[in-house]
Amino acid sequence: MATKPFDMAFIGAGCSSLQLMHQMASADNWHEQQVALFSHEQPQHRSWCFWSDKPHPLQFLVEKSWQNISFVSNGLSVTQNIAPYQYHYISGAGFFNYFQGQFLENHPNVTAIQAHISAVQNNESTAAFTVHNGTQQWAAKQVFNSLPPKIKKTPDHVCLQQHFKGWFLQTDTDAFDEDTVTMMDFSIEQHNDVRFVYILPFSKREALVEITVFSEHTYADAVYDEVFENYMDTRFSHVNYTIQNTEKASIPMTNAPFSRFGNTGEVLLGAAAGMVKATTGYAFNRISKDSLGLHHDLKQQRKLRLANTQGRFRFYDNLLLGILAESPQRGKEIFEALFSKMSIPTILKFLDEDTTLAEEMLIFSKLPFWPFLAQVFKQCILPKIGFSRS
Ligand SMILES: Cc1cc2nc3c(=O)[nH]c(=O)nc-3n(C[C@H](O)[C@H](O)[C@H](O)COP(=O)(O)OP(=O)(O)OC[C@H]3O[C@@H](n4cnc5c(N)ncnc54)[C@H](O)[C@@H]3O)c2cc1C
Repeated sequence: MATKPFDMAFIGAGCSSLQLMHQMASADNWHEQQVALFSHEQPQHRSWCFWSDKPHPLQFLVEKSWQNISFVSNGLSVTQNIAPYQYHYISGAGFFNYFQGQFLENHPNVTAIQAHISAVQNNESTAAFTVHNGTQQWAAKQVFNSLPPKIKKTPDHVCLQQHFKGWFLQTDTDAFDEDTVTMMDFSIEQHNDVRFVYILPFSKREALVEITVFSEHTYADAVYDEVFENYMDTRFSHVNYTIQNTEKASIPMTNAPFSRFGNTGEVLLGAAAGMVKATTGYAFNRISKDSLGLHHDLKQQRKLRLANTQGRFRFYDNLLLGILAESPQRGKEIFEALFSKMSIPTILKFLDEDTTLAEEMLIFSKLPFWPFLAQVFKQCILPKIGFSRS
């Protein structure tokens, strides 16, 4: 049976819904809005890292920040201060405890509803949406949908996974540089994928060590475990450690098209709107910026901004994704060239899509020429002369 319509409904109570809601809660009329927040399970306690050169709207949730980033490969080790940026960590526990506790208590106009949403419909005669879970339905004037996207693999688009398994370690002796995040350590066997280790040190004796891979398919657990054990034996051979926890996940890396709107005209958010950067898997700060922009557009009753990467940055992502998919053995070489020849703050600025054309030309001038040229030929010239990419 239909219930009283909500002014707005958020489907999914994760990173993007909660960040947009946090923005909207600053509006004068927010407390007059009746808001439904649908979620089907207890949140998965993933944690988020991101870099930023400005205080974040959720800065009070940041548990640790780092000033240095390092890049490591065979015979190469670069550590740099990343000013004006800092690299921040927000734990899933801190994020969800805040939103499920303090935020909901302070915003009684938000009704949290546990329901597995199976469909959204648009009723043209009433200009309202209905949100269904199979047995119940709820009406809302506006819907924000962040259900995980179903990405269809097509011959025209690259669909890789960034998949990883991470170990939260406690060591007996000081083992980590607590001021420096190891963003990529390529000193491990590549096995014809793009593989690196990511180390997030919380203290000298606590860190998350993550085996990260860019490839089409995820691995069986035993593969990550073997890479991890070999790495620890080589890099931390004199360190005794205990495993406090593990995490395992996969994030799509794709240049498939995304839209701001779903099939019924509802507004898409987060990964569903293409907010995951195709070549890095980072999304948290892109979602933050999108939430700010969306809130602004909605307040001004303006056309909503497009969600995902556009223009020349989409072109760059396409080139790199094409190389990673077709010639993964070149991945390590490209990242080595990038990190050994460019400053890390410039790389972060580029990944944020904030660089100027001149800075981008400088970056590309440092990278191996042929793989990029081959992709330009394949992606831009062959289709023009009638060859399909498939
Ligand atoms: C393990 C992991 C770690 C990551 N770490 C980082 C990082 O460090 N930095 C970074 O920038 N990005 C990171 N990302 C990428 C990105 O930031 C996250 O995927 C982010 O959570 C995406 O936000 P979202 O709102 O689109 O999806 P989510 O945060 O996943 O929210 C979707 C919500 O929908 C709910 N839901 C799903 N199906 C239904 C249904 N049928 N009915 C009702 N509710 C439903 C889910 O329970 C969830 O609450 C990570 C991703 C993963 C998977």
